[in-house]
Amino acid sequence: MAARIRILSENLSNKIAAGEVVERPASVVKEMVENSLDAGASEIVVEIEAGGRRLIKVSDNGCGMSREDALLALERHATSKIVADDDLLSISTLGFRGEALPSTASVCRLTLSSREKGSVEGTEIYAEGGVIRHVKARGMADGTIVEVRNLFFNTPARLKFMKSAETEAGHVADHLTRLALSRPDVRFVYLNDGRVVFRALKSDLQERALSLLGRSMTAQISSVDREDGGMRLHGLAARPECSRSVASHLYTFVNGRFVRDRVLQHAVLQAYRRFLEKGRYPVAALFLSLPPGDVDVNVHPTKHEVRFREQSRVHDFITSTLEGMLHSTPWKQRPAPETVSPGVAGEPVAERRVAEVRDSLAAYQARTSSQESFVMNKAPFRLSAAGIQPAKTSEAAPAEVQEGAGVTQPAPVAGFFSSLSFIGQHAGAYLVCSDGEDLVLVDQHAAHERVAFERFRREFSVGSVESQGLLFPEVIEFSHSESAVVDEHLPLLKKLGFHLEDFGGTARVAQSVPRMLAKRDFIRVLRDVVEELSLLGRSRSFLDIQEEILMRMACHSVVRGVHLMSEAEVAALFNALDSVGFATNCPHGRPVFRRISREEVEKMFKRV
Ligand code: ADP
Ligand code: MG
Repeated sequence: MAARIRILSENLSNKIAAGEVVERPASVVKEMVENSLDAGASEIVVEIEAGGRRLIKVSDNGCGMSREDALLALERHATSKIVADDDLLSISTLGFRGEALPSTASVCRLTLSSREKGSVEGTEIYAEGGVIRHVKARGMADGTIVEVRNLFFNTPARLKFMKSAETEAGHVADHLTRLALSRPDVRFVYLNDGRVVFRALKSDLQERALSLLGRSMTAQISSVDREDGGMRLHGLAARPECSRSVASHLYTFVNGRFVRDRVLQHAVLQAYRRFLEKGRYPVAALFLSLPPGDVDVNVHPTKHEVRFREQSRVHDFITSTLEGMLHSTPWKQRPAPETVSPGVAGEPVAERRVAEVRDSLAAYQARTSSQESFVMNKAPFRLSAAGIQPAKTSEAAPAEVQEGAGVTQPAPVAGFFSSLSFIGQHAGAYLVCSDGEDLVLVDQHAAHERVAFERFRREFSVGSVESQGLLFPEVIEFSHSESAVVDEHLPLLKKLGFHLEDFGGTARVAQSVPRMLAKRDFIRVLRDVVEELSLLGRSRSFLDIQEEILMRMACHSVVRGVHLMSEAEVAALFNALDSVGFATNCPHGRPVFRRISREEVEKMFKRV
């Protein structure tokens, strides 16, 4: 019988390796720029066309390669960076596996041009799908130019996973931002379809961070630098007010390499726990250096994860260093969220609740799709999954009229809320009412949120969220990848009530914002919305995101904490509650009202 096991051809194994290393244009950029940095370049230019699908070109002024080395570089496992096993224990370069060039070459049309310092001419190698087609002399400056054309032309499955050019260009910007943050001493230029996205001049970390993450942070940045027991942590952190809802702006580097590490992230959040509510992440660029032997970078194909030899020592060092920094900044005046009295600083409370949205969303959707019936507007109607669809469906003519069937709780009837008699307000947050028989307690925040959410949802589904022009249009600085997301979703943002215009570079100017947010912190909401949008297509569908965005906006449109309401305001709120389709739960799934029956009251006083 013939052997079933075969050794894969070099070309096929490269293609397989490419599956791990070359996920999208941004990964090619990352690998090639890392090679340029390893080659000692002080200037790196990255150009892409059509999101990197047509062209990715990385040019550097590094040490270059001889003809022989350039040819070898395209072979699998060819590297100049490690020689012996032991070298793996002390890696100081970004690359070391000798995989990136051959893997990339196997899935594109690649031109590698290089001229070693001191040699009379350069060499140009052209390969198609990993097969070398020609090698020739080329006049060029010292350094290396890698041109990747028609990425994934021979791997249609990969090609299908490519997103829009804007999205791919945004990923490239993400990677370049990390690389450029890690090396302020190197000049980076990034061009997308001939347009300069950024030009980061040689500078220090502070200047580099501001140029990449937005100058609006100038007054908000503090620096840190501490060495202890062979470890050093240095970098910058922005004040807690600049926090984000995802960790996208928490840049952590280990020995100069960007990593996304659980231990590091936890250590940072631990230090910030008194300054940030749950679910918020600081904006920071933090660099940890430690002896190469104390960290293993060879645990993940993209090297984004690392393993520390002494995990808890690293963790404690980071936490204590950042705590020290936080204590010596004016930010320490800010009370911890737990001790904030709800009446004075409503925002942290609001934020904490926004953070709860994600958790409770699942429960909420499960509940609303479980075909419960509620009696509404005299005729009962069945609330199906459509209940959480845009209001045009949930407001459709009552479906399946079945008198009284399936009612699981004493349900509100037509004008239920307006028919209540309002007795008074309790704790500045609850409305005590009577329906003639039972006591009814209404959670005024949940009620406001419910109304705002329904209003946003209705307006969104029939056109766009009502927006209000700003007397003083507000300039908002985004990071490069955020501005790419903004540009890609301009029409959607407009539908959500945010009218943004270009203001040069990555700045956009808000001409108008959702009316219900005009007097609130709409910039923060907008940033959060942009973050939600950046997840689109990666892990979430538009429908999930749409709901979360509208909830987030609703949550922020409501005044938190103790809020005394006049009778007229209560009446207006109750009218509004009656006019929204389904008012028994706030968008978080918390109840809007609770009933204490007459019988319960009587029991309390031992009358029955
Ligand atoms: P690795 O970076 O893991 O060594 P690569 O496949 O990325 O593997 O690169 C292979 C080799 O090609 C490198 O070790 C280096 O010697 C050489 N090389 C790649 N890119 C450059 C560059 N821009 N300048 C100089 N040498 C380079
Ligand atoms: Mg490399």
